[in-house]
Amino acid sequence: MSDSVIELQNVWKIFGDNSTEAMRAIETRGLGKPEVLEEFGCVVGIADCSFSVERGEIFCVMGLSGSGKSTMVRHLNRLIEPTAGKISVLGKDMLSLSASALRDMRARHLGMVFQHMALLPHRTVRDNVGFPLQIRGEPKSTRWEVSQKCLSMVNLDGYEDRFPRELSGGMQQRVGLARALASDPEVLLMDEPFSALDPLIRRQLQEQFMSLSAELNKTTVFITHDLDEAIRIGNRIAIMKDGRIVQIGTPEQIVTNPADDYVRDFVDGISKLKLVFARSIMEDINTYQPASGENLQHSPRASHGTDLDQLIDISTTTDQAIVIQSDDGVDIGVINKTTLLKGIQGGKA
Ligand code: ADP
Repeated sequence: MSDSVIELQNVWKIFGDNSTEAMRAIETRGLGKPEVLEEFGCVVGIADCSFSVERGEIFCVMGLSGSGKSTMVRHLNRLIEPTAGKISVLGKDMLSLSASALRDMRARHLGMVFQHMALLPHRTVRDNVGFPLQIRGEPKSTRWEVSQKCLSMVNLDGYEDRFPRELSGGMQQRVGLARALASDPEVLLMDEPFSALDPLIRRQLQEQFMSLSAELNKTTVFITHDLDEAIRIGNRIAIMKDGRIVQIGTPEQIVTNPADDYVRDFVDGISKLKLVFARSIMEDINTYQPASGENLQHSPRASHGTDLDQLIDISTTTDQAIVIQSDDGVDIGVINKTTLLKGIQGGKA
């Protein structure tokens, strides 16, 4: 059964004074982003966006600068009001919440991490992390206890009494993450949280975040302009262009079946070796034509979830085709050298 934590239905954001008229013209005359700008002086921020995010999922939103990623994520905690559409988070209709219910929702259930975390410069790391709890009126003892626990989660034990300026950029982002975790929100909204960091530090934080997210079972919407990052950490990825979602899929689906040239341009630079699996390139065993003298009885077996990298390893140890098996150990497909090379080349047979 699906367990959606976030649902967006046909959400639009038109920036500008004439947004209502612009929206009407889009509906009745199907105007595009350039025409809306020319005729109404309005900017289409996001256009007809719909998706849902399951509990525990890391849902990445990826696209070029200006494609609408930040506008999208700011709708989820209603920092931005949509021009049209429906937004539900944790079963609540976000657009009908009163001001106080919205404040409560943000303080208790939605954590946000930005690219440049605005840490409070005159407060210690401990007090920065405990700040959301202070706003909620929690006593100092609780704040210190939670703050200690969250700093430990992001490997910052021992830095409690430092000030933000004494920490590196990567450490400051970790303080930001600890602060977002302090109120133990079910949902994390992360807008390019690691984009300003050096590649090595960035990689470490991605890995740390993934294991934390799995351990704490958070539901995350993660914005990035980097497909590599989206593929590494996302369970699913939504790709945005000019305010629209052009494709939603798992990393494997996006890489093997890019929806259009825009997505294909991103995918071209990505190594497919760990992303494409035997099941998507194998030939059906029932229609496979063995070469003369080929006997699949002698072939090595591999699971349908074996990735290209592992298939290459197997292939280098044998002249036989590889027989692919289902989870139940039934022979279902065949990958010979030609199929494998085509898979490496294009991600598809
Ligand atoms: P991204 O996060 O992908 O870089 P944004 O969500 O910031 O993209 O922007 C999407 C579009 O909306 C862009 O064309 C941008 O110029 C426009 N936009 C964003 N915020 C505003 C605003 N406050 N007023 C007018 N236009 C805006």
